[in-house]
Amino acid sequence: MERDIDLTQKIRKYCKKIGVDVVGFADPKHFDRFPKTNRPESYLKDSQTVIILGKHLYDIMLDAYYQPPKSRKYFHFADSILETLCYKVKDFLNEKGYSSKIISYNPGFYLKDISALAGIGPIGKNNLLITERFGSQVRLRALTTTAPLECGIPITNSKYCENCSLCIKACPAQAFSEGRYNKEKCLNYNFSNLKKLSESISIWCNVCIESCPVGKRD
Ligand code: SF4
Ligand code: SF4
Repeated sequence: MERDIDLTQKIRKYCKKIGVDVVGFADPKHFDRFPKTNRPESYLKDSQTVIILGKHLYDIMLDAYYQPPKSRKYFHFADSILETLCYKVKDFLNEKGYSSKIISYNPGFYLKDISALAGIGPIGKNNLLITERFGSQVRLRALTTTAPLECGIPITNSKYCENCSLCIKACPAQAFSEGRYNKEKCLNYNFSNLKKLSESISIWCNVCIESCPVGKRD
């Protein structure tokens, strides 16, 4: 299939204009490794490209969760921004004659894994996507489209982590002590150490993100 390089560049330019900090394009052929519900065709027939958009979490408030009083629902500030950005890209593609579907978080895609498949950056020892400009301080969202865009080359190894283990040493829950990320340890620590910014706003432990030197500027 011929991929539209010109349209890909136009989308990159448009994303920059509307405030997307990170953008990547993944080929659906790489999604066979994921369960069926996490593949593009489960959301949109004839998907040709998965577009990943990222927002730099430059301010702690962007990474905060808001839970209205007496509600079980919560909202994440950066997620709301990313959803708006996805709609803008969807409209842009619609005007060019292509259908798109914004992917929900659940069941959704394995966002950090598909970002690595799109060539945005590797998965680091901190079990997160590492971007060259922002390290792991990014929040992600994806849409899938019938537009045949130019896709990135998958990245499988983290050059950043070769002589580093700062995030592993810094984790207060020792969630990496068995040589891989232990989600249960991480969640247990987070739920018993929630940082409350106000009655209804809290933030997650970000030590494994903050301790990573990649993307930090003096
Ligand atoms: S979020 Fe905190 S507890 Fe969880 S892995 Fe990262 S540093 Fe460890
Ligand atoms: S802190 Fe070091 S080991 Fe951890 S993700 Fe960043 S570069 Fe990799």
